[in-house]
Formats: sequence, C-alpha cells, structure tokens
Amino acid sequence: MVSIPECFSESYAEARAKFCGAAATAGGALRSWLNPHATGPDGGKLYLDTARFGDPDAKHMLVMISSTHGVEGHCGSGAQIAWLRTGGPAKLPKDTGALIVHAINPYGFAWTRRVNEDNVDLNRNFVDHDKGYPRNDGYLEIADAILPQRWDEASIAETERVFAAYAQKHGAFGLQGAISSGQYTRPDGIFYGGLKPTWSNRTIRQIAREELGRAKRVAVIDYHTGLGPFGHGELICTVPPGAKSFPRAKAWYGDEMTSPEGGTSTSAIVAGPMLDAFPQELPDAEVTSIAIEYGTYSVPEVLGAVRADNWVHQRGDLKSALGRELKANMKERFFPAGDKWREMVWARADQTIGWTLKGLGSP
Ligand SMILES: [Zn+2]
Repeated sequence: MVSIPECFSESYAEARAKFCGAAATAGGALRSWLNPHATGPDGGKLYLDTARFGDPDAKHMLVMISSTHGVEGHCGSGAQIAWLRTGGPAKLPKDTGALIVHAINPYGFAWTRRVNEDNVDLNRNFVDHDKGYPRNDGYLEIADAILPQRWDEASIAETERVFAAYAQKHGAFGLQGAISSGQYTRPDGIFYGGLKPTWSNRTIRQIAREELGRAKRVAVIDYHTGLGPFGHGELICTVPPGAKSFPRAKAWYGDEMTSPEGGTSTSAIVAGPMLDAFPQELPDAEVTSIAIEYGTYSVPEVLGAVRADNWVHQRGDLKSALGRELKANMKERFFPAGDKWREMVWARADQTIGWTLKGLGSP
C-alpha cells in the first residue's frame, strides 16, 4: 500500500531523489538539465529532471509539470511521485505516453521561493519579449508598500493602510490583481515577469520540441498552490475563452474548469503563463492544458508571505531569527503541514489525470 503523504518531500533535494528513484522503478527514461545560474542553500546543484514513459512515437502525450512557482513544487512533486508509485505509467493507454517534468524552477523549490534565480515569476515570463509589456499602474501605485524598507510592526501597519485604501477604491479582487497579475518595471518586486526568457523558459521550450514534437495530441497539467479553499484543486484554464483550445478543455473538464478572463476563477488574469509555451512550440499538435491550483490559506496570508519572502531576499538577512521565521511561514503557506492536505492533493490530481486521459483518447 502506497503512503500518499510519504510521496511528498520536505526539501528539493529529498524530492529530487524520490522522483528519480520512483521514475526509474517505474521504467521511465530520465533526463536531467542542470541550472547553470544558481545553486541551492546548501550549495547543491539544481536540476530540472524529466521522466518519459511509453512508446517514443506515442500519438498522445500526457505532461505534468511541478514547481513553476518554486516552493509550490512540494505539492506538484508529491503528486507526480504519487502517480509514479501508484502505477500511473503502467495504466497509460497503449497509444499514450507521459512526460513528467520535475522542478522546472529548481532554484525556487530549493530556496522556498515562488520566483526563480532572477527574482522572476515564471508564470509571467512567457510573454512576447519583443513586444511592449503589459502595464500595471496599480502595482506602481502601491509598490513601496509591497516592499517596505524595514519589516516591523510599523511598516506592516502602514502597508495594511495603503492596501485597505486601494481595496476601498478598487475592491479586494482589484487589489489582488494589482499585486499579482504581473509587472515588468520593478525587478526587486513581486510577480515580476523579467525582461527576457529565463533559463527555465528556454529549457522547457527545448524539452517540448525534443520530447513532444512527434505527438498529435498533448495534454499538460501544471501544479500550483496558494489560491482557493484549503485542499481544493481548482482547474484553471489559462487561455482566454476565444482561444482554439478553450472549448476542448471545457469538454474535458466541464464546469469544474474556471477561467480568469471569464471571471470564474480565484486567480487574477495573468500575463505570460508558462503553459503558453506548448502551443507555441508545438504548432502542429492539438494542445490542451490546465493549471491545478490547490488552496492553502487566505489570499492576504499567502500574499503577505510572498511579500515577506521578497523582503528577506532583497533587504533582510536569511540567517537572522526574523529571516528564518518568515521563510518557515512561506513554506507553510504554500505547503501546509499534515497528511490531510497531501491526501486531498493526490485525490484531486488522480481524478484530473483520469479526465485528462479520457480527453486525450476522445474521438
Ligand atoms: Zn503558482
């Protein structure tokens, strides 16, 4: 009997060892991609690993990605390892292969951050960098409250005052959008999209071309945490309702699927999500993708943890008592302790994978 909670890991290094072990046991072909720009807090090397299953010429490919937002990889890695340990690869239909992408953002996973080694939010980095960046005037209006000079009671109270005034004018969801929809002007801020494609961006595009170029149908599941009710996995369609793949995703996931553009999601409308890479790199394939967003804590608690983490890395001291306290809080907000949440994560992932395989095999 597989213990689901034990599929999850407390650190990136533990997750990587478990993933590679489980993938090898299940007969997967492993490839590793070293991140040349960063190391972990322990000085260890950081890798994105992939495991491939099934016929190399499989018509249909199931893809699962963890750690787009670094620390959220505790969740995605656990779901991937649970899939491997519960016999997922052996249950694939004959014409369907799988590509499991472990730790697309290994720096963020290892350092307990959402962002990558450039302080970039990968899910805002897949915009067309040759075009103008989306404006976010709301962020600029409150940027100093988002990253205060000091982190103490007075600065926290001042930030709360600024946020409350903004929410008074634009609503709570307007405040969430200003903070989290993405910004391209404050490299030391949060939800920063960066001004060029990051290592993870370039690497996942190469992986898509090399591993998925022969497939006719590709389904991608990207694991996230931090929005919505505790343990619930919201299936978010990250393409707008006008996109070619939207009706297909709707047919696969039904009313369980939400849409930020359609106003049915807990997520703000996001510029440049990672999932955009797949239809761009695989123009001849039918690509259907979904983000699973697992709830943890309230939006103010989660966004507060993200701001605190950014402050520690920009202006604080990781080794101080305050630094350690804020990092521990960051981990809990994106990876709640205890078995219950982990079991809920896998139950929903298992269900979603089932719907996805059914969709891949549909006429
Ligand atoms: Zn996320």
